[in-house]
Order: sequence, then structure tokens, then C-alpha cells
Amino acid sequence: MSKPLGILGGTFDPIHYGHLRPAQEVLRALDLAEVRIIPAANPPHRRPPLATVEQRLRMAELAVSGIPGLRVDDREIRRGGPSYTVLTLESLRQEFGERPLCLLLGLDAFEGIETWHQWQRLPDLAHFVVMTRPGWIFPAGEALPSWARDRLARAPGDLAQARAGKIYFQTVTPQDISATRIREAIARGEPVDGLLPPAVYEYLRANRIYLNREN
Ligand code: ATP
Repeated sequence: MSKPLGILGGTFDPIHYGHLRPAQEVLRALDLAEVRIIPAANPPHRRPPLATVEQRLRMAELAVSGIPGLRVDDREIRRGGPSYTVLTLESLRQEFGERPLCLLLGLDAFEGIETWHQWQRLPDLAHFVVMTRPGWIFPAGEALPSWARDRLARAPGDLAQARAGKIYFQTVTPQDISATRIREAIARGEPVDGLLPPAVYEYLRANRIYLNREN
């Protein structure tokens, strides 16, 4: 079977090191073919993003440029409509056939997964790789819902043996960074360099994104 493909969906309003470094660490730890960064057009579970779709896509492209193994995929933007992950995984499944697909999720996202559109279908389409995030702890034992307990992968190699259906918890270097914090800092005129790549920071400055706005 070919190497698994990683998928990291999100609003990326803006993309930051809390997305990029965990994606790179998972890429290496799980020996993935690549990680696709997929910006949501219209995220269904939250307020509309502040940056436009074009700006969020451009920032993602600037961020991955020069990082081997990371690639931006604009299929949710091209598709339009609500950015349901189930539709995205279906389209990737059509394109990649039997290749294992790994949906990368921060712990916060994993905790909310049962609210996602047709979430029960997601494990049929991809593995879940749940990444640590400061402020959240790995659910264990009873804290893990039974549907998830039955799917636990013992070793990263398990993910390459099937096309979907496993859950793997991956520790990544903790980075207390969120897009919300970045937007708020910019609106207050505080520095954000060090939280995101210089090219993204320059783009934000040049286009006056998140200044004096409601975050
Ligand atoms: P916001 O603050 O606007 O809610 P965010 O920083 O959480 O945004 P998203 O675009 O919503 O970013 O996140 C996309 C994915 O990246 C989610 O699965 C999320 O859990 C994960 N993620 C975001 N920041 C981190 C981080 N610092 N560490 C690990 N995972 C993260």
C-alpha cells in the first residue's frame, strides 16, 4: 500500500506555527507522503472568518512555500457551499482510491467531532490522527467514547495497513498559539512575529488584515 496522505483542514484565519510545525512533525513521525493543508471556504461551526477566502488561501500558500511535504489544496474553496469534512474526504477518496488517508486534528477539534456533519461516516473515509494542543489533555479510558476506543491504533505503522478507520494520538511539541490570539494581538497593535512565518506576517501587514476589527 502507498504511504498515507495527511489532511489538515481549518479556517487558517491566519495560518500559524501551531498548524505548520505539528503538520511537519506528524509528516515525519507517521512517514506520510505529504500533508495537504485545506482551507475551509465556509466553516460550518463558527463565525465567518475575518480574512477573505483569497487572503486565507494566499497566506497558506506563502506559509508552505519551501516546506517539503506540505501542500495547499483549495478543493473546499473551489467547491463552495458549507465546508463539510465528509465531502472533502469523499472527494479525496475518489481521487486517491485505496491510499490510506489521515485526517489530522488538534485535540480541541477532536473533542467536538461528534457535532460535525455526518461525523459517523468520517472513520469509513479516513484515519484520525489527534495531535496534542496546550490546554487540552488526551482523553483516556472512560473519557474516550466507545466508538473511538474500539478504533485505537497501537503503532503508527497500523495506519499504513488500512485505508481508514483507526485513531492515533500523536504528541507534538506544544505551542500555545491560536489564530484568535493572533487576530486579537494585531487589533491591539501587539507584535505577532514569531507566531507565524515572516512571509505571512508581511502579507498581513501589507494588506492591513485584522487591524481594529472585531475578533
Ligand atoms: P481559531 O483561534 O480562529 O479558532 P485555530 O488557531 O484553532 O483558530 P484552526 O484553523 O481552527 O486554528 O485549526 C485548524 C486545525 O489545527 C484544528 O484541527 C486545530 O485543532 C489545529 N491546531 C490549531 N492550532 C494548534 C496548535 N497550537 N497546536 C496543535 N493543533 C493546532
